[in-house]
Amino acid sequence: MDKQELLNIRADFPILSEKIYNKDLIYFDNGATTQKPRAVVEKIEEGYYHLNANIHRGVHYLSQKATEAHEAARITVAEFLKAGKHEEIIFTRGTTEAINLVATSFGEAFCKAGDEVVVSVMEHHSNIVPWQMLCERKGMTLRVIPANEKGELDIEAYKTLLNERTKIVSIAHVSNVLGTINPVAEVIRIAHQKNIPVLVDGAQSVPHIPVNVVELDADFYVFSGHKIYGPTGIGALYGKEKWLNAMPPYQGGGEMIATVTFEKTTYNELPFKFEAGTPEYIGSTALAEALRYVQAIGMDKIAAHEHDLLVYGTERLMEIEGMRIIGTADQKSSVISFLVGNIHPYDIGMLLDKLGIAVRTGHHCAQPLIDSLGIPGTVRASFAFYNTKEEIDVFVTALKRVVTMLE
Ligand code: PMP
Repeated sequence: MDKQELLNIRADFPILSEKIYNKDLIYFDNGATTQKPRAVVEKIEEGYYHLNANIHRGVHYLSQKATEAHEAARITVAEFLKAGKHEEIIFTRGTTEAINLVATSFGEAFCKAGDEVVVSVMEHHSNIVPWQMLCERKGMTLRVIPANEKGELDIEAYKTLLNERTKIVSIAHVSNVLGTINPVAEVIRIAHQKNIPVLVDGAQSVPHIPVNVVELDADFYVFSGHKIYGPTGIGALYGKEKWLNAMPPYQGGGEMIATVTFEKTTYNELPFKFEAGTPEYIGSTALAEALRYVQAIGMDKIAAHEHDLLVYGTERLMEIEGMRIIGTADQKSSVISFLVGNIHPYDIGMLLDKLGIAVRTGHHCAQPLIDSLGIPGTVRASFAFYNTKEEIDVFVTALKRVVTMLE
């Protein structure tokens, strides 16, 4: 990405020109949520000002237009993930809701007492707790794939965890703490040898690397709109038709039914079976706009620029004495978690904030991972395609200052 292109991109994100405490904002908390380009915000505005009516119900003009926009958004999401059929895309509130949907509905259809679910040590709470809740409901066991000291999955250990009781494997494509890009194609291939389906948590991958759910052969793949420059409150679940058809609805209500009598209700077909109630139809349309935005830049270009930032950021951070980078996998996305000496991550984050730099501190909703590493948490800088090496320079200078103050 050349300098002018980067400047043009940054101009699309008004918040990047804001001042925080009179300092230029440096936003390195993209793992938590990303900033929104003008095109996405304008799409929301256009939706509410010109296209707002409840979808799938009205015969009137606005309702039809809003329905068309929502269904076109579904096709955009399907194409983005390279899904075979757009009926395999279910809109959800985000990654968390999508995983809860699968844990509940898949669990209801296919799991019983004594069965097992496999997750990894580096999962976000939203890919642990819904499975734990399923295990509690059904009397099942949660098994955990360990990682090595670099933060890479132990594939040999993973193989030994799979057996005839394993009903599903659920794993992050990219760790939000370590940045590790997990070898999900291999994870899926190994599970499929035993006919075990795999859910991939794509919250941290979809915004950063090209994803092809059919090539991966993922059974379920989930992500959040707000982490890929789209609005909050919208995300998607991709599920293979054969699974989604065999799973009961997650929630009951309007839209998800075919017929209702007090004696019996029959359910709508895919994808509507899983979209009870009024969907986030303005959000879905704005999410599609966000996907078009990143596609126009190109996912390969985004991945290459962010990789440059990762390499440069890692090099520059290593200048600092006492620097310890948590997560040094060979395959990494643009996330750098670190600690400096014995300084508490929270203190670093607080002082960086005063200098206009937004980073994340704490356990990053991955407490079991942080506990397993025996650390209090980390400081996390997570980069997006609109970040620059110059910002990294300012960040490293600020961090050096902060470290001297806290040592
Ligand atoms: N999984 C991972 C790997 C994440 O990083 C996050 C968000 N930090 C989530 C799941 C949850 O996403 P959301 O809060 O958008 O549902």
